Amino acid sequence: MNDHLSTQDLDHYLHRNLDTKHEQAARTHLASCDHCWARWNRHRWDRARGHPLYDALRRYLGDEFLPYLDSSRLLAAEWDTLNPTTPAEIAQFFETSTSYLYNLVIWEASGHRPHYVDDALPILRRHNIRTVLDFGCGIGNDTVPLRDRGFEVTGCDYASPSTAFLKWRTQGTVSIVDPRGPSTLPQPDALWIIDTIDHLPDVEAAIGSILDGVDIVITETPRNHQSLSHSKKRFHIRRTPHEIDAIFHAHGLELAPECAPATSVQCWTRSSSQDSAQTVATPPRHVVHHHTSPLGLVTPNRSPNDDCTGEPPQQRRAN
Ligand SMILES: [Zn+2]
Repeated sequence: MNDHLSTQDLDHYLHRNLDTKHEQAARTHLASCDHCWARWNRHRWDRARGHPLYDALRRYLGDEFLPYLDSSRLLAAEWDTLNPTTPAEIAQFFETSTSYLYNLVIWEASGHRPHYVDDALPILRRHNIRTVLDFGCGIGNDTVPLRDRGFEVTGCDYASPSTAFLKWRTQGTVSIVDPRGPSTLPQPDALWIIDTIDHLPDVEAAIGSILDGVDIVITETPRNHQSLSHSKKRFHIRRTPHEIDAIFHAHGLELAPECAPATSVQCWTRSSSQDSAQTVATPPRHVVHHHTSPLGLVTPNRSPNDDCTGEPPQQRRAN
């Protein structure tokens, strides 16, 4: 794909209709061709127009709304300028970034973000999940639809422009807790951690105590490009599937075969509950779990990089 990308290419890319080879070719081209990148940025904003989340962002920002803001490249530029190195500096970056807010909106509203909630619903119901902790909730791309489907969801993220938007659009009805300790996080039935692990410099410190208490964990299925290093953004820590596996395994969680690799999410369960999940309802727990480990969380939510350079995903109603 050495020629410029056609509009049709961009649309297939947006909706994740390309096979692995062509998707990577498109991603590589976008990373090196400013002409096509600019077209891609306009294309995804045009596709987002009319989406409830797009309209909400416009109303929320009012006169400050910047049409066609290239949040992906702006995020990368901001990161390079600030060059945060310590966990505190990195946290501050996400706490103050308005580009990240735009990025999370455009990723979802354009249809580029995978249908995580739709894909995970059968799993959550099979395991009789009632309470969910959305770790790295950002603007609530999953928090809100999970809540709307009847789950008791707590968002977890830094106070930031993204979570301020979430509070605004849900009129404060979503509970959001800070990921850093010492903190009191509700002990959920399920840990929902999508596009967030790559932002955690120390996964164990950030979510180890939560992993001990949950029945299941939902993560995104690793995407092909996640092993690539040409992303414009610098804030992703790529780990191999083996590394992720080791982290979860240390807390008694195993990748469950029930999750087909074709879906956007992976499910991690305890071996005991895995066997009985089909027949035994796990009673919901209401234990408040106090954990005081200093969280090394580095980022609030969904990965921006994806949205931008490319995580293809779907068309789902935002709310
Ligand atoms: Zn081009």
